[in-house]
Amino acid sequence: MAMKKKPMKKAIKKAIKKAAKKATAKSEKKVAKKTAKKSAKKTTSKLPTKTPKKVLAKKIASKTPMATTGSTKAGNSQSFDKDLEASLVELIRVTSAELPDDVQKVILEALAREEKNTTAEYAMNIIKANIDLAKKKSQPICQDTGTVLFYVYHPVGFNQTKFTKLIENSVVTATKKGFLRQNSVDSLTGENSGVNLGPGHPSIHFHEHASNSIEVKLMLKGGGCENVGAQYSLPHTALGAGRDLDGVRKVILDAVHKAQGKGCGPGVLGICIGGDRGAGYIESKEQLLRRVDDANPHPDLAGLETEIVETSNKLGIGPMGFGGKTTLLGCKISALNRLPASFFVSISYMCWAYRRQGIQLGSKNEIKKWLY
Ligand code: SF4
Repeated sequence: MAMKKKPMKKAIKKAIKKAAKKATAKSEKKVAKKTAKKSAKKTTSKLPTKTPKKVLAKKIASKTPMATTGSTKAGNSQSFDKDLEASLVELIRVTSAELPDDVQKVILEALAREEKNTTAEYAMNIIKANIDLAKKKSQPICQDTGTVLFYVYHPVGFNQTKFTKLIENSVVTATKKGFLRQNSVDSLTGENSGVNLGPGHPSIHFHEHASNSIEVKLMLKGGGCENVGAQYSLPHTALGAGRDLDGVRKVILDAVHKAQGKGCGPGVLGICIGGDRGAGYIESKEQLLRRVDDANPHPDLAGLETEIVETSNKLGIGPMGFGGKTTLLGCKISALNRLPASFFVSISYMCWAYRRQGIQLGSKNEIKKWLY
């Protein structure tokens, strides 16, 4: 019997060992599967993703924007700065590649107005194709990404120095990513910084407002259209323009006439009546931050805006100066106080590549809302 018991014991031991081995293999497999799942999740979350406009806009913010005072705790501060830079880079990308809806709308209306099979219609069709392609490829609408103009609206106690630095960082990043052309050169030597930084560039305008929110607007203004901007001092004897609204109308139409074939029309005018020379030009550019389809609250200026567009479009200059029905897509006018001795009319001309956008920042410096 003893002789029989031994092999039996051995067989049982062997069976137990086999079962244990199987169980270990099974549990190891389970653990391996779990680990693989975990690491896959980690890797996916590390993959660089483009932040779509709508997803960013959906992020909900609480009441106090972190970029307001720069007084965040040291640990969080760096991450908030990074978030802000990311939001600003995205603002630059979208502004450079996509025209705002109100501008696209007037361009399509102008295309529909032009007579079929004319050079004007051909030019408008090319402009439309250009706009569509740039948006699809997320690439600059024009090779000239222009002067970079930021307008920052902020609450009381805002740290402008810190925000300026973050804007500059975002411009450098956007230039490296190809959203902006290397466009800023030293005026004396012609040397290109390669990153769009230098005295006066980017151009940043801060405005304090009563709201607790931070809004950043951006305009990219090409050189061709900037070159046909003009400033007149009234009275202007050669044009028979006196110091009144009719005189203003005469000099604006003179500027439109002189811009023909240059500045990549059809364009939009931003105009300031009055101010000193410097304030007049700044205000005329800020008029280009208005929506094309808004209405001027001042009835006389509203009337003049309509009249300028209608008269200009009867001049036969047309898209790119090829003739046709659309010379101007819009005209925006405001007035600043002036000295009795001066009467300036400052005109900023924006080409069809009317690149402006704006964002409102949320509590984590994410893009809470797009402004156009
Ligand atoms: S004027 Fe406007 S469209 Fe023409 S090259 Fe300059 S940025 Fe481009």
